[in-house]
Amino acid sequence: MMNRYKNINTALIHGGISIDERTGAVNVPIYQTSTYKQDGLGKMRGYEYSRTGNPTREALEALIAELEGGIAGFAFGSGMAATTAVLSLFKSGDRVLISSNVYGGTFRVLNNIFDNFNISYGIVDTSDLTAFESAINKDVKAVIIESPANPLMTVTDIAAVADISHNHGICVIVDNTFMTPYLQRPLALGADIVVHSATKYLGGHSDLVAGLAVVKDKGLAERIAYIQNATGGVLGPFDSFLLIKGIKTLGVRMDRHVENATKIAESLKTNAAVKSIHYPGLKDDPGYEVNKKQADAAGAMISFELKEGYDIRRFFESLELIMLAESLGGVESLVCHPSSMTHASIPEDIRKKVGITDGLIRLSVGIEDADDILTDLNRAIERSRT
Ligand SMILES: *Cc1c(COP(=O)(O)O)cnc(C)c1O
Repeated sequence: MMNRYKNINTALIHGGISIDERTGAVNVPIYQTSTYKQDGLGKMRGYEYSRTGNPTREALEALIAELEGGIAGFAFGSGMAATTAVLSLFKSGDRVLISSNVYGGTFRVLNNIFDNFNISYGIVDTSDLTAFESAINKDVKAVIIESPANPLMTVTDIAAVADISHNHGICVIVDNTFMTPYLQRPLALGADIVVHSATKYLGGHSDLVAGLAVVKDKGLAERIAYIQNATGGVLGPFDSFLLIKGIKTLGVRMDRHVENATKIAESLKTNAAVKSIHYPGLKDDPGYEVNKKQADAAGAMISFELKEGYDIRRFFESLELIMLAESLGGVESLVCHPSSMTHASIPEDIRKKVGITDGLIRLSVGIEDADDILTDLNRAIERSRT
């Protein structure tokens, strides 16, 4: 299912399987069924059991495969279920490298679950290609990168990491949650597998939890299909329907997210209360050039720290519009405190080492009026002055 539509704005709406063949309904129905009648022994109509295959989920899987430019997509009950299925490709003795600031749950599943199966991991700053290459040894079979990475928005050169990795037979897995295929297509940059927390921008409305994986290689597609059916972390038909519906408006949402984020990042940058800001859309951000080369925009995730003399507890409590909550990528603006929330599962010494300070604030810029978001931020910063 390589891209049939040249323009992603059209593929978002018509990609995958976009109509119901039987009735012509312009939305794929919610096939809320666990099983399918067989016309005789061995005579199935293409489906036998919904863990193995469900038409609503299949429409979503075909859609994400097309958007990411892969040959097969897989839908899971959460982003972590997608990552877990992908990590199940590896075996005892293998080693996985991860970017120094990845989603806390990715770290946790490696540190506390896969470690029990003797799959080890190493943390490396993948934005530093020399550091990355020197972390490679014969056991390393995969690298997981996020670009921009959570929560410091560190940008990794995906094509360069893929080149180095492929020289060593290493599988390149990109968590594309922050960018979505609308802004960045890792498979075309050389990655082997893309994973998503579709809970975030793809769903876009903070109303579901889902995960996706996409590959471009037939052998990998067969192995992940096997794992998906064997381990069973599939997405249900109703959530598959909701996710397809969310994806249809991804383009217009992302355009507004990026426009708002740019405005807010520029304003925060000149705010005297702000000590540091991380947003690869700012020209003097260390990731600006690489991000510009590999992505169509810088997304809408910003992180920043306030100077001494500002109390972040009071900052969070003073917000009136922006909500303090886990998650990101929805239409509404959300803030979080990575060191105690999304990245709390990472031990303090590692957090400090990679720069996830207790003063770091992460902002998921929504699609409300940008001036309203800014007013709320500035008011809360003002009120947090000690
Ligand atoms: C949220 C998130 C995940 C985990 O996804 P869930 O849907 O919450 O399981 C993985 N990666 C990134 C970048 C995320 O933001």
